[in-house]
Amino acid sequence: MAPLMPFFCDVALPLPLDIAFTYAIPRGMEPVIGGRVLVPFRQQRMPGIVVELHDRTPQARVPKVKIKNVIEALDLSPVLDEQLLKLGRWIADYYLAPVGEVFRTMLPLSAEFKRTITYRITDAGHMALHLAGMSGSPARSQRTREEQLVEFRVLDYLAERDSGRANENSLRGATRISRALLAGMARKRWIAREDVSAPRDAARTVKVAVLLSGEPGAPARQDGPDACPHVDGCSAGVPSAVAGACPEPADGAPHPRSTSSKLNANQRTLIEALAAAGGRVPVEAQRGLNLPRTTLATLVRRGLAELVDEPQEFSAPKLKPRRSPFEFEFSSAQQQALGKIRECVDARKFSGMLLHGVTGSGKTAVYLAGMREVLEQGRSSILLVPEIGLTPAMAADLIQVFGDEVAILHSGLSNDERAEQWHRIKRGEARVVVGTRSAVFAPVSDLALLIVDEEQDSSYKQEETPRYHARDVAVMRAKMAGAVVVLGSATPSLESYYNARKNKYTLVELPDRVENRPLPEVEIIDMRQEFQETGKDQVISRKLAEEIRDRLEKNEQVMVLLNRRGYSPVALCRACGQALQCKNCAVSMAHHKRERKMECHYCGYVAHIPDTCAHCGSEYVYFVGTGSEKLEELLHGMFPQARIGRLDRDTVRGREDFERALNALNEGELDMLVGTQMIAKGHDVHGVTLVGVVGADAALGLPDFRAAERTFQLLTQVAGRAGRGESPGKVVLQTYFPDHYAVQFAAHHDFAGFYDKELQFRSWMHYPPYSAIANVVVRSEKLDEALAWSGELGRWFEKTRHEGIRVLGPAAAPILRLKRDYRYHFILKSPSREKMNALLRKMLAEAAARKIPRTQVIVDVDAVWLM
Ligand SMILES: [Zn+2]
Ligand SMILES: [Zn+2]
Repeated sequence: MAPLMPFFCDVALPLPLDIAFTYAIPRGMEPVIGGRVLVPFRQQRMPGIVVELHDRTPQARVPKVKIKNVIEALDLSPVLDEQLLKLGRWIADYYLAPVGEVFRTMLPLSAEFKRTITYRITDAGHMALHLAGMSGSPARSQRTREEQLVEFRVLDYLAERDSGRANENSLRGATRISRALLAGMARKRWIAREDVSAPRDAARTVKVAVLLSGEPGAPARQDGPDACPHVDGCSAGVPSAVAGACPEPADGAPHPRSTSSKLNANQRTLIEALAAAGGRVPVEAQRGLNLPRTTLATLVRRGLAELVDEPQEFSAPKLKPRRSPFEFEFSSAQQQALGKIRECVDARKFSGMLLHGVTGSGKTAVYLAGMREVLEQGRSSILLVPEIGLTPAMAADLIQVFGDEVAILHSGLSNDERAEQWHRIKRGEARVVVGTRSAVFAPVSDLALLIVDEEQDSSYKQEETPRYHARDVAVMRAKMAGAVVVLGSATPSLESYYNARKNKYTLVELPDRVENRPLPEVEIIDMRQEFQETGKDQVISRKLAEEIRDRLEKNEQVMVLLNRRGYSPVALCRACGQALQCKNCAVSMAHHKRERKMECHYCGYVAHIPDTCAHCGSEYVYFVGTGSEKLEELLHGMFPQARIGRLDRDTVRGREDFERALNALNEGELDMLVGTQMIAKGHDVHGVTLVGVVGADAALGLPDFRAAERTFQLLTQVAGRAGRGESPGKVVLQTYFPDHYAVQFAAHHDFAGFYDKELQFRSWMHYPPYSAIANVVVRSEKLDEALAWSGELGRWFEKTRHEGIRVLGPAAAPILRLKRDYRYHFILKSPSREKMNALLRKMLAEAAARKIPRTQVIVDVDAVWLM
């Protein structure tokens, strides 16, 4: 039999479409399944993944449309091997996501492409230019005349060039046309927009920002003698030990500003970050700072920094190693857990394990020991950690244990660095992979062990397409690879604990802290009673204040958790009672006192602090409630001698800031650390003997069936920070829900009790793990569209027979408007995932038939967030 000569290939493209596209293969080109090809698509060129090679002449969907040719085969061997292709298809199917978008998520190789947008003058454009030269028909208004002039300048510019084309940057630079006007010209079909991807040259370079102004002290000098002392003192970053003492005007009036060319807060932050990194940082890596792009451009314009091209090998300086994570003798429970992992790995077939270890029981040491044994056998392992879990200190530990064999993937990497790490793993140079969510797709071969640390953490769920849960993908990948998956947690998710109880996973417990340290004592303070007794709405109860005073006197350390950032969460008008809302979202904007702004915590929109009410014009706007910034200030007032640091998204701009604050606590440079849930996760600080919990129960009031579980987990995690050293710890838990079972069980460290109670509730209400769940959100910037579409789908659901599936809705989403979109949703529940997904698939087909754009109907399978 003659070997098959494929003439066509089916390609999955990164588009919101559920189909693959067929292209012809030119003679001599040899694309491979799982490899990338560059193909034409509409006015664009884009890379896709070959999913099939065949010789069946395709039935053109539109008659007489010629099958286009593949432009270039980019890979000689697959970038997605058979197993990863299969995993990608499973994700597409399970989460109802377009497979091309899944493959794109799995491959962090966007750095290998250069995207160019060009504009080409069309025949209609030539005609318009020609007619204008003849008649010069006068426009009606001044504004239109000006716009016409700009348009003809663009047509002229393009017509002058041999190709009739120019790339967007040079075109806009030469003609100063606005994006909107350019888009308008494309709509009139005078010009055609072409979006072209091309592989980048082999010798790649990285844009690096270089600080020119010398030593890190430089920015301070930029602030003249007339700079505001408040701003200086307070924007120093973490830890900000003097913030509470600032003589800031209480009314939030603007500070007197000098007119000299000072640096603003963003510019100072960037300069400090550049200086801290030795004066040279890749431009891409600065995204982690969350600063506007213009900040760097301004520094360059002012001669404080310059941009240079460095060869791609440029990488950040290596971190110093610190003490070994193996400094403790393994307890017998740790040894047993390791033994179990070893046994399962040696069996060379799939098995799942839930490692339930109380806070401080030494889970990480077990993971690393297991991974070291796997590496010694020449096999591979992957460790997933939550976003916040991968600190520079942990990276240093890993490098110390695994040397060059470890690849570390985190959100601070540039696209180039990410691609470089991916190739190291693919080539087999790194057989130990540690990273956040997407590291589950690392292209290791001979995978033996996959570990998911803090498996209950919500950062494992991706909140954009494809909406996969990395823990569940890890379990599926381990199944496909015949590997061992270990889910570790002090507070396992209901789903995983349920699976362990049903013997889907082996349950391994680490019931004790290392060196038999006791779990902290927890005292519950009923804040309703506190209010009755004091007649005041206290933030810090008398008992917590007394305990803090006691620890400070003994030179012990304190952590205080308030899971809400900013100064006050709400700005309210006394006259009409309205709150200041975000212009993009139906939520209150929070007051940030030090940064003098109102900020939406959902979309990031920033506004001025209002002088008057936007609704009635009244001047009586006041700020209600307490956030972590205000808590820090209050504690300063109560304990002026204490050195207090704060840890939340406002003080932490990168992983280094986070690490710096924790180091300051570890080194005894701080007495107290205040913060949001960031302070609750996984850190090992030995001097903390008291943890105060202020308002961690707010979630219990939310209409979300996971509220109790989240509250229990948060309380348990933060309580776990106390007493990790020699001295025993105590937790003072302030709550308005003292009798709630989540609070009670957390206070008694009673995991099993909580799970029993919560499982009962879930079973009654048909929620996971007893039922599969999906959240379908229909969204549009136009309210009537969102209403009409959700209404149409609602009627469709009603008349469709769907036995065994409950469909709730359409209802307004708890946050009706988010990031400019109005949102209505359906919740689907079914004991049969197959039936539920089949119905969802039909619903998407129905939506497509009704011309509702796929991007406006979000299907979130196993949703963790129902707001
Ligand atoms: Zn008002
Ligand atoms: Zn907003």
